[in-house]
Amino acid sequence: MTARLIDGNALAASVRGELAERVFALKAQGITPGLAVILVGADPASAVYVRNKVAACEKVGMHSLKIEYPADVAQATVLGKISELNRDPAIHGILVQLPLPGHFDSELLLESIAPEKDVDGFHAENVGALMQGQPRFIPCTPYGVMKMLESAGVPLRGAEAVIVGRSNIVGKPMAMLLMAAGATVTVCHSQTRDLAFHTKRADIVVAAVGKPKMITGDMLKPGAVVVDVGINRLPDGKLCGDVDFDSAKEVAGAISPVPGGVGPMTITMLLANTLEAAERAAEEKQ
Ligand code: NDP
Repeated sequence: MTARLIDGNALAASVRGELAERVFALKAQGITPGLAVILVGADPASAVYVRNKVAACEKVGMHSLKIEYPADVAQATVLGKISELNRDPAIHGILVQLPLPGHFDSELLLESIAPEKDVDGFHAENVGALMQGQPRFIPCTPYGVMKMLESAGVPLRGAEAVIVGRSNIVGKPMAMLLMAAGATVTVCHSQTRDLAFHTKRADIVVAAVGKPKMITGDMLKPGAVVVDVGINRLPDGKLCGDVDFDSAKEVAGAISPVPGGVGPMTITMLLANTLEAAERAAEEKQ
């Protein structure tokens, strides 16, 4: 059996087309959605992510502001900038690229972003709203995964979903969203005793671990839908996911690739959240 491909690039292109139309409509009212991205330090992967986010903004007609600091910048300086951006009416979304250098209190920084501009959805107020089933902003990666499942026509109500990884930015919000959609959710992590026992009975597997090719075909139920969030760089410089694509595609019913899967959808949902923040600000102004 060869699985159907869940093509994140194609879906991202179509969603971005719709977003560009909404941006155009908002601009006609005199409002250009604006995203500020803060990058601290010179982590090469973070620099690429930030570059891609800024480029994606420009492509759909949004305004973007990239603010870069050296790794040894004082936390107070960054906090001061966030406070300034919180008050700036031209900026509707603020994002601090993670991870931050060791001397930073990441939580403090994320909490200093105005919740209505927290387009990553990491502020405690927004995490709480998601948990209560009334999200203000859905964190971009799990949001992208939900869009991929929806576009692939995957039935969620009553489905057995297994998420591998329990981070605040992927695994936990993913669990909330799948649960809200009616799936029965199991969250696995580094202390899970028998990972394959869980993945083998799953209709949907979402892998968000950060370990190259750790989910193999023999760990899957035939016909399962597999969404691979992982981004790992191999010694030869190539990117791969947490799923061993070659063996998994022989067992799964549908599978997302890396690259070209969740990555482009994460950025797309960041654009969607920023646009939504701008639309809400426009409504409030009226
Ligand atoms: P974290 O490192 O924060 O979390 C990894 C999770 O995997 C943890 O919950 C950890 O368990 C769990 N884990 C580690 N080893 C095992 C194991 N052997 N078996 C089962 N679970 C295990 O990572 P993130 O959630 O931030 O990211 C996960 C992956 O997704 C990374 O590759 C990252 O690069 C990628 N990513 C991709 C994005 C995209 O746009 N495509 C966006 C964000 C992330 P424990 O909690 O017990 O330590």
